[in-house]
Amino acid sequence: MATVPPSLPVPPAPPGAKGGAAAEPCPCGRLTVAGSAKAGKVEQAGKASGAGKPLAYAACCQPWHLGQPAPTPEALMRSRYSAFVLGLADYLLATWHPGTRPLTLELDAGTQWLGLEVRAHRLLDGERGEVEFVARSRLAGKGQRLHERSRFVREAGRWFYVDGDVRG
Ligand SMILES: [Zn+2]
Repeated sequence: MATVPPSLPVPPAPPGAKGGAAAEPCPCGRLTVAGSAKAGKVEQAGKASGAGKPLAYAACCQPWHLGQPAPTPEALMRSRYSAFVLGLADYLLATWHPGTRPLTLELDAGTQWLGLEVRAHRLLDGERGEVEFVARSRLAGKGQRLHERSRFVREAGRWFYVDGDVRG
């Protein structure tokens, strides 16, 4: 009489949830904005204050990876960096403007992504924007640094990466 139930199986991940763990810090490295919210409270000038805590993947790039439109060029740019980290080639292609999108995209599994730094971002008008960033990675033990100013356009309510200029 086998009354002992078998051990419970591990629940499968929900469909489409490949990639990062929702509670983990987002790969894009975005921080909470707690530091900038203290209006009227100047404290300890000169000290490196204002650094928030890492934002969870679920509260940062995951919604865009799951299909919601990223609201700004910066959000899209961050989500694309995270997609590189997580190996979401389909997402990278889907957010690439059809006019400049490659037919296929092979992500080098040997690339180790080290971090993203958004230097500047601005809207040129309601449908065009730019984001300047530095992305660091390592491939085969060699450090790489990509400093790019990327262009984005919004079509039918969605932002797309168009292209970019590599900076110094
Ligand atoms: Zn993120």
